[in-house]
Amino acid sequence: MKNTEKEEQLLREALDDSLRKVGNVWAPWRTAYIASHPRDGRCVFCAKVEEGPEHDRENLLLERGKRCFVCMNAYPYTPGHVLILPYAHVETLDELDEETYAEFFALLKKWQKIVKSSVNAGGLNIGINMGKIAGAGIAEHLHMHIVPRYFGDTNFITTCADTRVISRSLLDIYDLYLSNNK
Ligand SMILES: [Zn+2]
Repeated sequence: MKNTEKEEQLLREALDDSLRKVGNVWAPWRTAYIASHPRDGRCVFCAKVEEGPEHDRENLLLERGKRCFVCMNAYPYTPGHVLILPYAHVETLDELDEETYAEFFALLKKWQKIVKSSVNAGGLNIGINMGKIAGAGIAEHLHMHIVPRYFGDTNFITTCADTRVISRSLLDIYDLYLSNNK
């Protein structure tokens, strides 16, 4: 291998490595896991809704709106990670009708406040990974992330991304969120 080729290869490896590290904060390293374990090939998000309100707690489903719903991410990036989704199994924002779009963002406004105050987060990451290339683990069903951030969690994430410990049980936070959803 020529020197320049070797340099290019090293550069590529370094870039891959840094992208992977950045990705640890945002990349759906856990949702990728769920996507690889589909429920009989059904969409995991649609399945939560279809299973009915009596299963909402075990499905971590927090609120059923008219056109959208809110649930906790069962494989959270940080404790208290919430998702907002349309019932409609669509991939992109443009596929939402006006009412659904309005409710989607109304729920975001409402839940970012509940999340921040309930878990005493220092800040939030809010966003959509639209499409597989953008990092969506389950790209076929649009979802908005609300990820609480805690002081010091970046160090924790970058050093322990694969062995992250969720410090409060999902159901404890679920109950806390429900009691604060008034
Ligand atoms: Zn779906």
